[in-house]
Amino acid sequence: MHPRSTSYRGRFAPSPTGPLHFGSMVAAVGSFLQAKSRGGEWLVRMEDLDPPRVVPGAADEILHTLEALGLHWDGAVMFQSRRHGAYEAALNMLERFGAIYPCACSRREIADSSVSGVDGPVYPGTCRAGLPAGRAPRAWRVRVNRRAVEFMDAVQGRVVRDLAADFGDFVVRRADGYFAYQLAVVVDDAEQGISEVVRGADLIESTPRQMHLQDLLGLPTPDYLHLPVALSKQHEKLSKQTFAAPADAVRPASMLYQVLCFLGQDPPPALAESSLDDFWRWAIAHWRVDRVPRVTGAVVETPNAWN
Ligand code: GLU
Repeated sequence: MHPRSTSYRGRFAPSPTGPLHFGSMVAAVGSFLQAKSRGGEWLVRMEDLDPPRVVPGAADEILHTLEALGLHWDGAVMFQSRRHGAYEAALNMLERFGAIYPCACSRREIADSSVSGVDGPVYPGTCRAGLPAGRAPRAWRVRVNRRAVEFMDAVQGRVVRDLAADFGDFVVRRADGYFAYQLAVVVDDAEQGISEVVRGADLIESTPRQMHLQDLLGLPTPDYLHLPVALSKQHEKLSKQTFAAPADAVRPASMLYQVLCFLGQDPPPALAESSLDDFWRWAIAHWRVDRVPRVTGAVVETPNAWN
């Protein structure tokens, strides 16, 4: 069982696919301030679940950067690569309930026969009633039905989705054998006792699916807060520009200052020149969620200034 802690517990869950960039720093700083301004804990989980995407050395580099910027986490870092047993157990439970089924469809077949949902193709249900004769299982999917899933996002407001119409039966174990992000996150957020998930709004469409899995697995649903995603002037998600390693950075507070500006906190300009201690003291004391822009994405005016 996973008792829901009464105190605040947040987390930052980077994928070690490269160094932290402005976009991931927004999620790191936003989740950290939300936790620390409530006297809560802030945990770090390394989402190294997808070996083909993991870049060797990136996890260490991310942790080093967080530490050097004064983003000190509570407890031990959780690594998803060491948690296969927990994901397997969750999958077995879903199978016992008859909630999942093997699927033989290739990406191509699905693309050819599906309609688009809010986050990619909606699976047409080809293998729902059993594998077609002569076809081998590839992925495992969880059944969804027509049902409104609703949550109140602390920044984005009320979100309502229809699982069947908007997503369809979705993958919990991939064709390559790896566990899907949706499953791992749900198992880990429960294991870490997370009371509120703070992350980028690029993941807002994952939340209804994660709530469905929490429901099936009997796990608590945390609160959700989706921050605006940092966009380039071309309105693309910022992901290539790296957040300069603080050890080499002349003024780490000036980089963090820009993240605070992006999050609508209106810091005094002098904060950009301050020590990290002074920076965090101000940022924690003045953090206000109601100042975070209520948008899913916003252009960063000077994304290279911290490079
Ligand atoms: N690992 C995901 C990312 O780096 C974040 C997952 C989450 O916060 O739920 O985009």
